[in-house]
Amino acid sequence: MKNSDCLKGIEISNEYEDLICYGFDASIADSGLPWGVAWPKSADEVSRIVAYASDQGLRIVPRGAGTGMAGASVPHLADSIILSFEKMRKVIEINPDNMTVTLEPGMINSRLQRELQRLDLFYPPDPASLSICTLGGNVATNAGGPCAVKYGVTRDYVLELEAVLPDGSIVTLGGKTYKRVVGYDLKQLLIGAEGTLAAITKITMKVLPLPEDVITLLVQFNDLSAAGEAVSKIISAKVIPRTMEFIDGSAIKALEQYKPTGLPSGTAALLLVELDGHPATIQKEAEKVVQVCRALGGETAVAGDKAARDKLWEARRAISPALYHLKPFKINEDIVVPRDQIAATLTSLRALSLENDIPIVCFGHAGDGNIHVNIMVDNADKEEYARGLGLIKKIFELVLSLGGSLSGEHGIGIAKLPYIDMEIKEREMRLMKDVKRLIDPKNIMNPGKIFGAC
Ligand SMILES: Cc1cc2nc3c(=O)[nH]c(=O)nc-3n(C[C@H](O)[C@H](O)[C@H](O)COP(=O)(O)OP(=O)(O)OC[C@H]3O[C@@H](n4cnc5c(N)ncnc54)[C@H](O)[C@@H]3O)c2cc1C
Repeated sequence: MKNSDCLKGIEISNEYEDLICYGFDASIADSGLPWGVAWPKSADEVSRIVAYASDQGLRIVPRGAGTGMAGASVPHLADSIILSFEKMRKVIEINPDNMTVTLEPGMINSRLQRELQRLDLFYPPDPASLSICTLGGNVATNAGGPCAVKYGVTRDYVLELEAVLPDGSIVTLGGKTYKRVVGYDLKQLLIGAEGTLAAITKITMKVLPLPEDVITLLVQFNDLSAAGEAVSKIISAKVIPRTMEFIDGSAIKALEQYKPTGLPSGTAALLLVELDGHPATIQKEAEKVVQVCRALGGETAVAGDKAARDKLWEARRAISPALYHLKPFKINEDIVVPRDQIAATLTSLRALSLENDIPIVCFGHAGDGNIHVNIMVDNADKEEYARGLGLIKKIFELVLSLGGSLSGEHGIGIAKLPYIDMEIKEREMRLMKDVKRLIDPKNIMNPGKIFGAC
């Protein structure tokens, strides 16, 4: 154990058994063995660890739950200290009079949701990983989820951040007011920065009243493009559902083989549409959704009660693991396109899949144009694996040509590094790197993520 006086009292380990647990994230994009793992219990401890790393020429990799899909919390450099927020999991304050919650970054998303629900409050950003991922990770990746279609993403809720900068100083950015126009809004820089600028140690977020009622509809389509078209037609009928999830036929098939849930197999695509608000209002909205879908050949069923609704969501959340029944390896992209390009995107992806003889399974948050595109391959078959990897660039070219973006929620990390230049132009990239260099001149905070060399 290498330690020093300035780290006194801080839980930190260099034992192999500890290090190995922090070498991966959910992307399995890369792996590494860090120099050490630290479990700070306060901002002061985080500050001392960061200052130590800065003095010793070590790197800091902040880590929530490691559910990231881009390798952003992977310690790919051997001189990294993993800064794990597992011991900073408290809700500090729920303030119903200001409609805010203040918490430590290691708090798990679904635990927060449950605590708020007891008070009839609601925090909408709900990544499908909500039962494991942390709010610190959600802020650092600007996480979204099914509810983003109506309620927006993490960024839309963050009011104040306390953070430790790469020189060890502790700063407070933003504040507890809903409005604020005093200088640059620096907290926005940290949101979605994938831990490359600072370690977030405290978060204050807005909360909303828990919606009065929810209606859940499952719409079945025999035509893929009609399902895509239904998404934009529902929106243009002036209905903004709280969720509008898309599941293609191959995902349903894989799911039914893995964990039969009763979803209608043999169908081209499903939309899981959920409306929330006043019972009379959502009843009218549900009728509009049924009409729009029927005009496109969709057949709608209503989840009769909470148990039926929970079963549908359980099925939706089980899709990702189910896909391994199709092929042993998944190259997962989370592209986003304008809503009116969803149908074109889905049909072009289907064509790419057929042309290249590689299954491409699509599902995800179609309501905001964010589709999880899964290229399924056997990675033991070198030729097939290379063909699968070759598809990534073609998919990004397609998405960019339709006015979309490489990532709606997972970020760049290390997994998408080779492609970021396809979207971010040279001048804008220089600006981003200048910001990084200004805040982190020694490049100690999660180096190599987003930009590679800086
Ligand atoms: C099954 C599954 C479903 C998913 N569904 C969604 C989804 O619907 N929507 C979505 O957006 N994402 C989704 N994800 C991706 C992932 O859950 C999110 O990116 C999540 O926000 C990561 O949180 P985490 O706590 O696991 O962070 P980690 O994976 O540990 O870290 C992610 C990034 O945040 C940084 N970070 C973590 N904590 C801090 C901190 N306190 N200060 C500074 N930086 C920090 C890390 O350095 C890293 O760059 C899914 C992942 C899985 C496995």
